[in-house]
Amino acid sequence: MENTKLNIYSHPECLQHISHPERPERLEVLLALFEEMGLGVADAPYAPIESVYNVHNANYVTALMRLSQNCAEDEDALYKSNQPRDEVDINIGSYDAAMRAAGAGCQAVDDIFAEKTNRAFCAVRPPGHHAELALAMGFCLFNNAFITARHAQEHHGVKRVAIIDFDVHHGNGAEMMASVYDDVFAISSHQDDLYPVGRGTTASNLDSKVLNVPLRDGDTITEVMTAYNEKIFPALDKFKPELIIIAAGFDAHKDDDISGIQLESEDYATLTALLVEAANTHCAGRIVSTLEGGYNLEALKESVRHHILALQG
Ligand SMILES: [Zn+2]
Repeated sequence: MENTKLNIYSHPECLQHISHPERPERLEVLLALFEEMGLGVADAPYAPIESVYNVHNANYVTALMRLSQNCAEDEDALYKSNQPRDEVDINIGSYDAAMRAAGAGCQAVDDIFAEKTNRAFCAVRPPGHHAELALAMGFCLFNNAFITARHAQEHHGVKRVAIIDFDVHHGNGAEMMASVYDDVFAISSHQDDLYPVGRGTTASNLDSKVLNVPLRDGDTITEVMTAYNEKIFPALDKFKPELIIIAAGFDAHKDDDISGIQLESEDYATLTALLVEAANTHCAGRIVSTLEGGYNLEALKESVRHHILALQG
């Protein structure tokens, strides 16, 4: 494809999942931003169920569906994982929202490989990067990025997919799944010792399917760029991805109280521009970016604005 084109995917049902602080207002501010920027938003379809089963355990998917659909209106159920103190809010809208969130990524790769676009941003919730094979945790139900990666492998003849997770928390879901499924490279930069505690250390990097790059409380774009230039981009050059998926969390922003990393909104443009450069080098510019965290509404909105402008560039 000659010119860069960016498609945005979302769905009103992604607002129907109720949880805190991963709340519907996060998506509402982004939908307002797209309108302000004059960007159209395509409806995210339900994910093909076989693409969800291609990643998650079928019994787990059914259990989440039942838990959600058995809720009365205005009632909350609690998904309790087998990990202590880890709970995820579920309500009647949660399953539909999660299926749309995963479906956005699947549709994005379908459109990219049909050469209708070469970049995509999925403005969806619930987020996905903490979800493991049969485990909801950290506000995440289905691993949207990994479902997208496997969908591309299954339907579009893609072999090597890199998932680059710049959310301030460790992408434990992709790390676990990369050890089970072939040819997906799980890269995560995150603040050391945040959620999930004890995960995302460099000890996992012995396996060439995983690259964890822990950052420190107080780090700014300078340290983040050093980490990307010295560790992540060289690894990406070696892997030669045919598709890049960004697990795009914006909670490393200085105004987001959830972390101590000090990124400015514009720093997301700097970082994204380098990811675009890597995609241009390796995979004809193909990038699917899917929303993960980011809890300060104003910081989220401005960071996504810069992310999108760089994806268009
Ligand atoms: Zn996060």
